[in-house]
Amino acid sequence: MTPLPKKRRSTLRQGRLRATKKMSLPDLTECSNCHKPIRKHRACPYCHFYKGAKIS
Ligand SMILES: [Zn+2]
Repeated sequence: MTPLPKKRRSTLRQGRLRATKKMSLPDLTECSNCHKPIRKHRACPYCHFYKGAKIS
């Protein structure tokens, strides 16, 4: 069965729900190579290093 909402949310309720869900910044860590703040579990976008090795 496909999960379906039982009732339509009004725009007011939808907005209220979205207001309670806090937008958070992505989990950041420091690049081991160039020490710039980067996303966790991602190759560094500046030097393309991940776990001490360069990603081609
Ligand atoms: Zn880097």
